[in-house]
Formats: sequence, C-alpha cells, structure tokens
Amino acid sequence: MTAETQAFVEELRSICGAAAVLTDFGDVEPYAADWKRSFSGNPLCVARPASTAEVSQVVAACHRRAVAIVPQGGNTGLAGGATPDDSGVQVLLSLGRMQQIRSLDAVGMTVEAEAGAILQAVKQEAAARGRMLPVSLAAEGSATIGGIVATNAGGVNVLRYGMTRALVLGLEVVLADGTVVDGLRHLRKDNAGYDWKQLFIGSEGTLGIVTAAVLRLVPQPRHSVTALLSVADVEAAIALYARAQTEIGETLSAFELISAESVALVEKHAGLKSPIAAGEWFLLVEAASSLTGLDEAMESLLAAAFEDGLALDGVVAASQQQAQSLWALREHVSEAEIREGRGLKHDISVPLAAMPAFLADAGSAVAAVALGARLNVFGHLGDGNLHYNLLIGADDDASALNWAVHDSAVRHGGSISAEHGLGQYRVGEWLRTKPAAERALARAVKQALDPGNLFNPGKVLPKTPEGGAA
Ligand code: FAD
Repeated sequence: MTAETQAFVEELRSICGAAAVLTDFGDVEPYAADWKRSFSGNPLCVARPASTAEVSQVVAACHRRAVAIVPQGGNTGLAGGATPDDSGVQVLLSLGRMQQIRSLDAVGMTVEAEAGAILQAVKQEAAARGRMLPVSLAAEGSATIGGIVATNAGGVNVLRYGMTRALVLGLEVVLADGTVVDGLRHLRKDNAGYDWKQLFIGSEGTLGIVTAAVLRLVPQPRHSVTALLSVADVEAAIALYARAQTEIGETLSAFELISAESVALVEKHAGLKSPIAAGEWFLLVEAASSLTGLDEAMESLLAAAFEDGLALDGVVAASQQQAQSLWALREHVSEAEIREGRGLKHDISVPLAAMPAFLADAGSAVAAVALGARLNVFGHLGDGNLHYNLLIGADDDASALNWAVHDSAVRHGGSISAEHGLGQYRVGEWLRTKPAAERALARAVKQALDPGNLFNPGKVLPKTPEGGAA
C-alpha cells in the first residue's frame, strides 16, 4: 500500500472507527465474492459505516480522491452487482451495520428502516403488529432493505403487491459528493415535483447510496391456502391462471410455474417428492386473505380446472405444514440446479400472451446452439417472468446460448432481466439488446447524478460508452 493509500484508509478509519475499515485478506474475502462465487474481485478495503452521517463522510472522502465505491447489502444479488472489480482500488461500502428499524406505524401502515436492516427481521417486526411487508424471496434471511430497493426486488408476491418499487414511499440517499437527501416521507400521496426516488430504485448502487427507506405495509392475511396442480402444457397453465383470477380474484397471491424437469431435479437432489402425478408443468397457487372462505374458493378452482380438462392432477394443502412442503418443491429448485452441474441462468419476462410462442422459439434456439442443453425452467408465471435456466456441458458456448434465449425474449416483446437486474453479468446483453435512445437516456441520468462514474462503475452501464475497457 502506498503512503497516499494508507493515509486514505486512515481517513476512512477516522470516520467509521478503526475496526470498521477492513484491509486484511481474511476479513475482506467474504465481501469480495458473491454468494455463489460466480463473481469475485479485490477491493482496496471494506468500509462499514454505522450511520447516514458516516456514509456521507465516506462518500465525500472517496469523491475528493476520485475513488470508486461498490455498495453492498446482504450480498445475495444474482448479477454480480455488489462485487468489486479486481483493480484493488475500489472501496466496498457495506451497509451491514445500519440495521435499525426506526419506526413502524401499524395504522398508517408504514415502516422506516435503515439500509442494512435484514428483510426478514423487518417482516417479522411487521407481522408482530399484524402487518406485512409483502416482499417474499428465498434470500430474505440475508437480503437487506437497501438491497431490495437498489435492485427493485421481485419475488413470489409481485402478482398481488407489485415489485419493491410499488412499496417505496420515501428514501434517504447519499449523492456522489456526499450530500444527504432526506426524502423519508411517510406519504401515500406526494405530487410536489419530480418523484426523484424512482431513479434510485433499481439503480443497483450506480446513482447513489440508499441509507434508509420508508416502505408501505399491507394487512397481514390471517388465512391462506396453497394448491399444487399439474398441467399438460403452458397454454393450460395460462388458461388456469385466468380461471384463478376469476375464482379467487384479488386474494390470489402467487401463481408459480415449475417445469417437470425442475421438480425431477428437486426430487433427485433435495430428497423431496411431489405428491401429485407430473404433467409437463406444475403450478403452485396461493391465495391469502384476512377473511375466511379461501379453502372453498380453492377447492372450486380445482374442481373447475378438472371439469374443463385443464388440470391433470392436483392437491390442496390441508395444513400449514403441507403448504410448506409444497412450497419446498419450488424453493429448492435453484439449489438442486447448482448440485446438478454447470448451469446458465436467465431471468426473462414476456407478455403472458406471448409465453407459449416464446417457449417454443427459445427451445428451438437453444437446441440449435447446444443439442444436449437441458432446460430448468421455473418462475412467476402470473408476472410473465421465467427463470429460463439451462444445464449445459463443459464445452457448450455460454454466450451463444445467452444470445439465443435473450433474442427470443426480445423478439416476443420481452425483457432480458425481469427482476434480477443487470449488475455486471448482463451489461453486455443490455448494450446489445436495448435501443440506442434508451441507452442514451440511461447515460444522461448517470451523468447527471454521478458525473465522475464513482458509484459502482461497470455495473448496469458499461465503464465506457462503447463498452470497451475503462
Ligand atoms: P446485494 O446483493 O448486497 O446488492 C445488490 C445490488 O444492490 C448491488 O448492485 C449493490 O451494489 C446494490 N446495493 C445494495 N445495497 C445498497 C444500498 N444500500 N444502496 C445502494 N445500492 C445498494 N431477487 C428477486 O428479485 N426475486 C427473487 O425471487 C429472488 N430470489 C432469490 C433467491 C435466492 C436463493 C437468492 C440468493 C437471491 C434471490 N434474489 C431474488 C436476488 C436478491 O436476493 C435480491 O436482488 C436482493 O434484493 C438483494 O439484496 P442484498 O441486500 O443482498 O443486496
């Protein structure tokens, strides 16, 4: 470390406290790679401020010396957004010490929490007051409030409650020069000028540091019912979704699609067993409400599904425990995929009406590139969002397969990233597939808020306009 770098680290220590700025390899290492170890880097140090004021001072110090900052929450992201590059000159800013839940208003139905607060802890606090923060992810035991805001996280309840963006009422952010903007308003209506917080939601740490958020809560449903069905094809799944909207209406909270191949992987690697006969697809349907009558509604949905010839087999969970074991089939898919071998993840969305054509198109495009590639497709059918993952061989061309899947999605009016963001993983594909006018708009926003390109360079946008090396 040069004397200048050492002085900089000491300056950060004087802000955060000596123990809160890590430089030893063993201390830094857990922050330097993502949870799957698909991405890794080499930060100059890890700074762990304990307050908004400290974040502001750290950012101002970095700004003065033109040092890049990589924000990190729970490090559960799936696109490498929270992983530094290997230059050895970036500061990794961990929000992990800022975990306070500042207030919870059960009548106004809002919660204000610091960026490092764990999603699950905030959900538990809300549940204890009869309220729910409706963001449900398998990673919620580690993902943070700052992380879900910065990635505009989705999950299984988007169908009913929207993505994180739909829940954010106010934000506190630190700008590139260290200025703190306090927009922590607990308001459902606020049309006084530009709604600037929208820029930071989903910006993956490239425009500012989220230090706290006010989120909207909903009543905690007191009753829920879960069913597992199997269907012969995706057309039947979509017809059943339409039927579910009519039969269970606004209480429909999740409508998940899982391919028979995915369930077979879970059965192989997680020791679980589907209680029903397989079709080409399985559907996991959940309804929740404060009112009773859900069981009857779900039973009548199933009866109608059999009568119309849409469902091949199905079961309604008779207890919470059974519901959990049905959900386990869905929740173990990613883990089973990792155990199976080399995988390639995609997170596409298409309009629901285009889903059958997309599946046919993408299947042929993948087979044309790698005949032996196997599909592991599952996701949030109600949102038109599929994790169109592939299990591939050591020699298969990952880039060509990415192109095949993404081009199929774009051809059908879709997106190459429905909920996981771009991070560093999908920047090249964003460049390749986004129209020029939209790319220019994104650059203008970045230039306005982070002209020195110090916030998470190389994430969301390429480091340079043409995507070449910095
Ligand atoms: P990190 O991973 O630490 O960071 C993610 C991005 O946000 C990075 O770009 C980082 O720089 C930025 N960032 C983090 N905190 C801040 C901050 N305070 N200010 C500014 N920028 C910040 N995602 C979904 O959308 N839907 C799912 O269903 C889903 N399921 C998942 C299941 C599993 C098993 C796993 C491991 C992940 C899943 N994810 C899912 C992805 C992930 O959990 C979410 O993206 C989550 O929101 C990330 O939160 P985090 O605190 O871990 O953020």
